[in-house]
Amino acid sequence: MALKEIYDVVVIGSGPGGLAAAIAARENGADDVIVLERDVELGGILLQCIHNGFGMEIFGEDLPGPSYAQRYIDDAKAAGIKFLTDTMVLDITPERRIFATSRGSVIDIQARSLVLAMGCRERTRAQVRLPGTRPAGVYSAGTAQRWVNVEGYMPGNKFVILGSGDIGMIMARRLTFEGAKVERVLEVLPYLSGLNRNYVQCLLDFDIPLQLQHTVHRIIGRDRVEAIESVQVDEKWRPIPGTKEIIPCDTLLLSVGLIPENELSRKAGVLIDPLIGGPYVDDRFQTNVPGIFAAGNVVHVYDLADWVTEAGLTAGKFAAEHAIAERLREKRHIPINAGKHVRYVVPHTLDKENLAENEIRLQMRVRAPIEAPVTVQVFDGDNLIAKKGEQYARPGEMIEIKLKPKRHYDTVSKAGSLTVQVVER
Ligand SMILES: Cc1cc2nc3c(=O)[nH]c(=O)nc-3n(C[C@H](O)[C@H](O)[C@H](O)COP(=O)(O)OP(=O)(O)OC[C@H]3O[C@@H](n4cnc5c(N)ncnc54)[C@H](O)[C@@H]3O)c2cc1C
Repeated sequence: MALKEIYDVVVIGSGPGGLAAAIAARENGADDVIVLERDVELGGILLQCIHNGFGMEIFGEDLPGPSYAQRYIDDAKAAGIKFLTDTMVLDITPERRIFATSRGSVIDIQARSLVLAMGCRERTRAQVRLPGTRPAGVYSAGTAQRWVNVEGYMPGNKFVILGSGDIGMIMARRLTFEGAKVERVLEVLPYLSGLNRNYVQCLLDFDIPLQLQHTVHRIIGRDRVEAIESVQVDEKWRPIPGTKEIIPCDTLLLSVGLIPENELSRKAGVLIDPLIGGPYVDDRFQTNVPGIFAAGNVVHVYDLADWVTEAGLTAGKFAAEHAIAERLREKRHIPINAGKHVRYVVPHTLDKENLAENEIRLQMRVRAPIEAPVTVQVFDGDNLIAKKGEQYARPGEMIEIKLKPKRHYDTVSKAGSLTVQVVER
């Protein structure tokens, strides 16, 4: 696909947040909308969420994740939105320049509005400081979800799950369907950290025990997990003596929290709320950087994909509004080019509305001395609109020519560009 240099709206990430933002941007007047996605498929994490439970609020239907995502993929394609998959965004600037690797090449595009929709990632073993050996068989619940649901691979037979987050509980049920034994779900907090609905449908209905105020004290096993040692903790997470228990298993899944994915956002100067790990946003989902919006789990971890979609719709609508205002501003600002013998001109652009009321001074330097009388000329396209004589032109001496409201407002075109040149008389 041939890329443009500048897009009205660029969206990073094609999960429900990104797809909704792209669709809303098109619906609200953005012309060129492109979604950049590092995966080879569109849809984000929903592609591996093959269980139902998606879409009750928006569609009044109980859909599996991939079906939910497909509805928005179809709508986005019908709306003329461009997609670039297999494209990893590596850097973004506060001026909304985007650098990415895409199928073996590097791309560099400009956005009038940028929507961050990179979702979130899972906390790892290191982040929860689990002691013990480092055998195979310790995975995040999301990794296991991808293996079982997308790759068709079972990571083990006998599981313990640490953390009562939704992904962990959903995986407890999924692994049971696939014939595995889930021995226990351990939760360090005195309450469930996921949805009660998932506790009932995924643990209670399958007789999988949940132990609150319990954690993994030690992982046992050299090459492969052989057991974990669990322990009960007090309200300050201190182990309670005499409560350790060895639970034989070959796999430990971690479902210990999600972190909004904001390394890119920081590069563009987006301020992050340390409490939630996502950008500070206003009611339009605009960050502190003008023209950079954020939607979905990149901001905070939502309970429902429907709410992610709704956040994306809001961000996309206002991203379009911002892009249209930018487009109008660009149209009003006429570029001023350095023509024959001129090295540069300041200002670089001219706002025609400013010229309606104010005199504008164009200042320049020539490239090389011209020791003869010269004429400084300002062209609007082919039309000479201003000129001025000088006895000579030297790089060390700045030259100035003025554009005046009464004389020049009508002669400056609306969408063209000006060129200033210095020629020998
Ligand atoms: C591992 C995991 C499992 C989950 N399982 C469930 C579940 O079973 N049920 C449930 O309701 N919710 C689940 N969630 C929550 C889920 O994230 C939300 O329901 C929803 O998918 C969030 O939508 P989103 O658009 O914000 O992000 P996502 O759906 O995560 O989409 C973000 C997209 O951004 C892309 N991306 C990120 N960085 C870049 C980059 N630099 N360049 C290009 N593309 C990039 C990613 O590849 C991804 O496609 C899970 C979350 C995770 C992390």
